[in-house]
Amino acid sequence: MTDIETFTTEARAWLDANAELRSRNDSGQRELVWGEGEFSVSVFHNLSFEEEKAIIDDARAWTQKKAEVGYHKITWEPEFGGMGLTKEHEKAFFKLESEYDTPGGHETHSVTTHLMASSIRILGTEQQKEDWVKEWASAREMCCQLFSEPAAGSDLASVATKADKDGDEWILNGQKVWSSGAQFSEWGMAVCRTDSDLPKHKGITVFVIPMDAPGVEIRQIRQMSGGTSFNEVFLTDVRVPDAHRIGDIGEGWKVALTVLGFERESSNGSSRVGGNWAQAKGLAQYLELTKDPIMRDELARLYTQYRIMILNGQRIAAQTKAGQPPGPEGSISKMIWVKSMNLMSDVVSKMLGARMTADTGEWGTYEWNEHLLGAPGYRIAGGSDEIQRNIVGERVLGLPGEPRVDKSIPYKDVLK
Ligand SMILES: Cc1cc2nc3c(=O)[nH]c(=O)nc-3n(C[C@H](O)[C@H](O)[C@H](O)COP(=O)(O)OP(=O)(O)OC[C@H]3O[C@@H](n4cnc5c(N)ncnc54)[C@H](O)[C@@H]3O)c2cc1C
Repeated sequence: MTDIETFTTEARAWLDANAELRSRNDSGQRELVWGEGEFSVSVFHNLSFEEEKAIIDDARAWTQKKAEVGYHKITWEPEFGGMGLTKEHEKAFFKLESEYDTPGGHETHSVTTHLMASSIRILGTEQQKEDWVKEWASAREMCCQLFSEPAAGSDLASVATKADKDGDEWILNGQKVWSSGAQFSEWGMAVCRTDSDLPKHKGITVFVIPMDAPGVEIRQIRQMSGGTSFNEVFLTDVRVPDAHRIGDIGEGWKVALTVLGFERESSNGSSRVGGNWAQAKGLAQYLELTKDPIMRDELARLYTQYRIMILNGQRIAAQTKAGQPPGPEGSISKMIWVKSMNLMSDVVSKMLGARMTADTGEWGTYEWNEHLLGAPGYRIAGGSDEIQRNIVGERVLGLPGEPRVDKSIPYKDVLK
């Protein structure tokens, strides 16, 4: 196996040939020069379809470039396009990569390359692995998550979208909602009800559907921060081959939990959305608030929270072994990340006051409005704060479960 030193030298040469170094200060940190360049702290994009697609295309192009060598999935086996190396190699690459100007992330891109590709790699049939894992991991094709429904969010096991078997095919009917990036995706992973006579967790099956199949209708939803990241997806007599079923019939709950586990694991603050400590500190310096005793206290609180997030990320990375499905500890990471982001909104709002609500053209000020309006969304996405606490309470701390009166009765008899 390539040793870390050789690997790092080769990776540095590859990055030099394919990307530009960011400007850095004397201590090697990425430099923020107040007033210079683009300033973004948005959590969700407030963009037109074409503008948002351009961001996704940039992210895809960079992942595809990395995939030519295997830098996109360093710990994965070569059969899935990876390099078969260790977490330490991956960590070394991420550290190097962060020194270069590379395209920003996008939720649909990370859903596809992390959640969906990783889940099929573990749970797919040989054919499904061959068809989708490399394609999705390298972002050549995109896949969205068709899980939530108007009456099944936190209680995902209550999904009502029906899948009825018809020979070698299934016919899907129902409505999904909050489907991020459905408008940019070639594929969607849909959680469906295949048996209403069984209790709700048992009669569920998961399918991968082509988003351009007849009967799939995507309607965009406008969000309060602007932009339309989410969609309603209506499925009317959509035919899906049985070969697109993920896992056994009635075993869809396990599939959904695997995907959600990856989602919680990846919601650990490593994404670049929602601003960073340097931007908040830069604002405090610009507004000359760093000597204000109350603001110093707030900033210390924020800095501490961000350090906790980073240390927790390091702990999880050290524990995760390549290829192992994620556990309930991902819920802790998600809560820390969301808390950090919302605390940042809070502290920055105190610093900015009215500047948060009126665009005066002053660099690095009104832009925080997009942060304030976007950050609460992640208290809900991928399982709300309350649900994460339930998971930690029951599955990490071993506390008694909350009463679930509909757990053992047939889905068709559950009061809706
Ligand atoms: C930014 C964003 C992106 C999303 N992307 C996707 C996507 O791509 N695909 C997808 O399928 N879905 C997506 N969702 C949907 C998301 O998974 C759901 O919104 C979430 O699971 C909550 O479900 P709900 O909205 O139906 O709220 P509800 O489940 O109705 O919850 C309402 C409130 O009740 C609380 N609550 C519910 N049950 C309990 C309980 N047992 N104990 C304590 N409190 C409880 C909740 O915490 C919440 O405060 C996204 C949501 C957001 C905000």
